Amino acid sequence: MVADSGYGSEENYEYMDMNFIDGYVKYNMFHTELKRKHIANPFLPEHLYYNAEKDFFVCPMGQHMGFVGKKKSVSDLGYETTLRVYRATNCTGCPLRGRCFHGTGNREIKDNVRSRLYRDKAKELLTSERGLYHRSRRPIEPEAVFGQIKYDGGFRRFHYCGRQYVGAEFAAIAIAHNIRKMAALRSS
Ligand code: SF4
Repeated sequence: MVADSGYGSEENYEYMDMNFIDGYVKYNMFHTELKRKHIANPFLPEHLYYNAEKDFFVCPMGQHMGFVGKKKSVSDLGYETTLRVYRATNCTGCPLRGRCFHGTGNREIKDNVRSRLYRDKAKELLTSERGLYHRSRRPIEPEAVFGQIKYDGGFRRFHYCGRQYVGAEFAAIAIAHNIRKMAALRSS
């Protein structure tokens, strides 16, 4: 499966994982994470050392950030996400505070373990040789076709509701698009 970052949600990654699909699907921070400035920033939650056995992070000053609770959220489609919250014990007077965070009290970070593992897997696939190939093809193959259908063909809105009818309508549009391309190829 190849798709852009608009589809890189925990819910979609879970679906692909459960259906044994290799997902070459970016997440919203994918490009930012590859930048040197991001890689070199020791204050980002994903760069803090995590002790999985005792379930704590270690901040850049060496302080343990222990688990303090969970936060749940539910998407419009009913998908439930759980964030685990970790908090430093005492940030008062820390010389790194200005660079570490700007809030009040002690620093808190939120970690979504499941999402993090899915993103790690996606990153590994996307930066592999096959991933580089798919990333180079994706903007050319689907985007040009969408542009031709939407802007050149004037198709801006589906006429029917429901997955089955929308699927049938799009299939008809795709067939028409392919016939147009075949005709153009034959006449060239
Ligand atoms: S501000 Fe707090 S969390 Fe950040 S480095 Fe200092 S002690 Fe650690």
